[in-house]
Amino acid sequence: MNTLKLSILVILVLNLSGWGQSANLIEKFEKYRIHYDSIDVSQAKQITSWLQDGQQNIRSVFNKDFKRSFDIFIFSDRDSLDKQWQKDWNMPGFKSQCWMVASGIAHRLDILSPRVWQAQACEHDVRDTTATRKIVFHEMIHVFHGQHNPSPTFEHIDNIDWFVEGIAVYSSGQLDQSRYADAQDFLIKNEGPNTLSEIWKGENRYGLAGSIVKFIDDRYGRKVLFDMLAYTSATEMLNHLSISEKELLLLWKTAVRSNSSVQNKF
Ligand SMILES: [Zn+2]
Repeated sequence: MNTLKLSILVILVLNLSGWGQSANLIEKFEKYRIHYDSIDVSQAKQITSWLQDGQQNIRSVFNKDFKRSFDIFIFSDRDSLDKQWQKDWNMPGFKSQCWMVASGIAHRLDILSPRVWQAQACEHDVRDTTATRKIVFHEMIHVFHGQHNPSPTFEHIDNIDWFVEGIAVYSSGQLDQSRYADAQDFLIKNEGPNTLSEIWKGENRYGLAGSIVKFIDDRYGRKVLFDMLAYTSATEMLNHLSISEKELLLLWKTAVRSNSSVQNKF
């Protein structure tokens, strides 16, 4: 083969590999595989580095690792993410809200490519890489939680939204000083939730859910917090803590109202 023919062949191969945007690439790591389209090579690189940090975060919070490997899918547009969620949640025609950018269950983590967040998402600033990194950490906590729960997809749970989201907010570092202060301010000015089911609601849901899980961690310790990952109902959790719903809510609200600093451990 002469030099001219060789260079034509190389160009053809390059053109083929750059053709279209749907070439699915897969990279394998010890505990996960990451799937992405060729258009998202640089996003995948960034997310991979956050996944490594997120795995380390889980080790330092729980002193444990993932039980099983899982898959991460980076979706190149919202339509393809919606199609996946329609299938996963058995909700044909489901259209996600603009603030929904990622999800996590025991065997998979789905994320809309941050490359398209500016055009196809709201409430998330893609330039804020610290916040985006924490979103990846948050979803990894859901994956870890699913792997330690009898309902790995969280389909069969009873009144534990506050804990599922709270532990992801708290352990990912999303319960920062500003979220904590907002929740505190809200609880000082209002009576606040009188049932566990009211916690993961409204604009303060991150601060409220994160702070009640922080309260449990502070009062009962990390071992108890880890044990709670295995329960599917609020009743089981309250039994484990030997406390009534009313008392837990009262003690938590009193603690948040009187603490001026979050003293985030993560
Ligand atoms: Zn979540």
